[in-house]
Amino acid sequence: MLNENLFAQPLDQFKPLIDPYMRRINYLRVSVTDRCDFRCQYCMSENMVFLPKKDLMTLEELDRLCTIFIQLGVTNIRLTGGEPLVRRGLLDFIKNMSRHLNTGALSELTLTTNGSQLTRLSKPLYDLGVRRLNVSLDTLDPDKFKQVTRWGNFSKVINGIMTAKECGLKIKINTVALKGFNENELFDLTSWCAQNEFDITFIEVMPMGDIGNENRIGQFWSLKNLRQRLEERYTLIDTPERSGGPATYIKVWETNQKIGFITPLTHNFCESCNRVRVTCTGELFMCLGQEDKVDLKTPLRKYPNDDRPTIETIRRAIEAKPKGHDFDYSRQTIQGQVTRYMNHTGG
Ligand code: SAM
Ligand code: SF4
Repeated sequence: MLNENLFAQPLDQFKPLIDPYMRRINYLRVSVTDRCDFRCQYCMSENMVFLPKKDLMTLEELDRLCTIFIQLGVTNIRLTGGEPLVRRGLLDFIKNMSRHLNTGALSELTLTTNGSQLTRLSKPLYDLGVRRLNVSLDTLDPDKFKQVTRWGNFSKVINGIMTAKECGLKIKINTVALKGFNENELFDLTSWCAQNEFDITFIEVMPMGDIGNENRIGQFWSLKNLRQRLEERYTLIDTPERSGGPATYIKVWETNQKIGFITPLTHNFCESCNRVRVTCTGELFMCLGQEDKVDLKTPLRKYPNDDRPTIETIRRAIEAKPKGHDFDYSRQTIQGQVTRYMNHTGG
């Protein structure tokens, strides 16, 4: 007689990924390229040297890797970069990945983008099953936009965002809080988002990479202070919503809009972390704020027809997922800085 439990037990190979702190890993961020058409001051130096093409995972390899993670219980994938929409062939990659949306194995495939390609790509993205986008926008002033992105074109981005909205994509604006730069736009940005029915998430600037001469401590605007400023005008209602990531959320009573705060430096978000990151070179980072990484490209390439060595490597990595990161500005020096750039790991 058949043992019915046999069907209740996942095959050992495909049992879910649970780290030593009992956090279930079901969210994967994939940086599909380190390249970008902008050079944001806090993210890159102006003379960035990008990785040689041969070091990048092919889109077929990224598909195979994402599929492995889905078999291991990942239900949400976010594509990021660099700028994901400048990677050639990305729409074909998304088209192939949408098979997992169709089977229901993947609940959501989303992107974080700078918005520069959205006028052209919003409709195809919607047609392929993408329903939500995070778009980065730090200012509503075209001159300041040029200053912070160095190479960005403000009207192109705004057109892109509006096209995405018209196509039915739900939009969340990501704004890095920058002291002396967008402090005076707090209410303009918030009410522009409310008018357009966009959520907005503010992000504290993180110490990633060597970005040149910019003074990061000078750039740091604590979200504690930002929140106090919002409270001068609005009634903020805390919500229990957690995405498993670094954001906490509030509702604005007057506008009914959702505002997120990503506060890695003033608030530790690690205890409920459900995510890991894969870079465009196939490195698996278990924590955004730590240097520990595992190479997945080698087992993937060495065993083209056998996923088990890659799965084994992923499992060993998850067993070593650190409890949290060590970023800290509190002593006015940068503690816990990591040397890689944000565009490499994906924000
Ligand atoms: N190019 C896309 C974009 O800008 O949305 C995706 C990649 S970008 C690295 C992802 C997010 O990281 C963006 O919202 C960006 O503002 C944020 N980011 C980049 N460098 C950062 C830093 N040093 N501290 C905090 N956020 C940063
Ligand atoms: Fe490019 Fe995004 Fe980094 Fe800006 S934040 S330079 S858009 S990767």
